[in-house]
Amino acid sequence: MTADIITTFPKVKLMQNEPLSNYTNTKTGGKADFLAFPVSLAEVQELVIYANKQGLPVTVIGNASNLIVKDGGIRGLVMILTSMNHVEVKDNEILAESGASLIEVTKVAQRASLTGLEFAAGIPGSVGGAVFMNAGAYGGEISMVADSVTVLTPQATLKTIQRDELDFGYRHSRVQDEGDIVITATFKLQSGNATEIQAKMDDLNARRAAKQPLDLPSCGSVFKRPTGYFAGKLIHDAGLQGYQFGGAQVSTKHAGFIVNVDHATASDYLAVIQHVQGTVLTQAGVQLETEVRIIGEDPV
Ligand SMILES: Cc1cc2nc3c(=O)[nH]c(=O)nc-3n(C[C@H](O)[C@H](O)[C@H](O)COP(=O)(O)OP(=O)(O)OC[C@H]3O[C@@H](n4cnc5c(N)ncnc54)[C@H](O)[C@@H]3O)c2cc1C
Repeated sequence: MTADIITTFPKVKLMQNEPLSNYTNTKTGGKADFLAFPVSLAEVQELVIYANKQGLPVTVIGNASNLIVKDGGIRGLVMILTSMNHVEVKDNEILAESGASLIEVTKVAQRASLTGLEFAAGIPGSVGGAVFMNAGAYGGEISMVADSVTVLTPQATLKTIQRDELDFGYRHSRVQDEGDIVITATFKLQSGNATEIQAKMDDLNARRAAKQPLDLPSCGSVFKRPTGYFAGKLIHDAGLQGYQFGGAQVSTKHAGFIVNVDHATASDYLAVIQHVQGTVLTQAGVQLETEVRIIGEDPV
């Protein structure tokens, strides 16, 4: 392990042994050996080339709203891309940098009277994380609006991928398989009426606020929807709402969420996830798969 990276990149905001709990939406997670906040493609590219030469693994994080970082932390270089957040409108298209807030992009679309992204008005991820996850809600998903994506490959070459090559599926995109870093995304929208777009976004956000525990730290829906079932209903029916281990609790408001109610650790989250999976499997015979991405190392 080398701290040379800090002296090699004097202009990049770089930290050593930084707790990722300062950045994750659950407020849990271990330390990154090195945490960088690049502000441009050039910086990301130079960091990846350097890390490859030094044999440092590279991990990219967006808004950390769908993430559990284990308490042992992440070895190598972690990059948070939220400083790369430029968004621009060109005719019916929006070009957004990967670190831009998806919610901010929906506001830009509304102001430009562009319709199609309203479903994302309350999804608290970054553009890169949303493409990676093919985030969706209320009948919409990123695959319906993403036109093309530029990525940096693990070998640090820039590549543009068109929509039909992105292999979108339920909470899946090709980015997950290739280890690419999303740099920008272009969304193709339709012209609409700004007042109607705002009304739809307000309605979806009100529905979200009524059902989800938005006042507590969480990572959204923890489990994928199993074919033929709803994860939340299975968890509710298994009597698991309110189940708590350490500081992590199955939300009493929405059974699909696990909330940090009292200084939870990532290990608390993982214990609750395991308990929920085991109980639902025993009681309903359904194996719940996690939607939330679990990364990093177990504590020693
Ligand atoms: C209250 C709440 C409500 C939510 N509601 C929804 C919902 O309705 N629908 C939904 O789909 N999700 C929802 N989520 C989950 C989450 O917001 C989405 O999955 C979002 O798309 C994740 O984006 P992110 O930037 O936070 O990604 P992160 O959590 O930072 O990362 C998720 C994964 O994407 C990867 N990644 C992030 N950025 C990049 C990049 N630039 N290049 C390559 N890989 C990258 C990470 O390595 C990680 O594996 C919710 C979460 C919360 C907390």
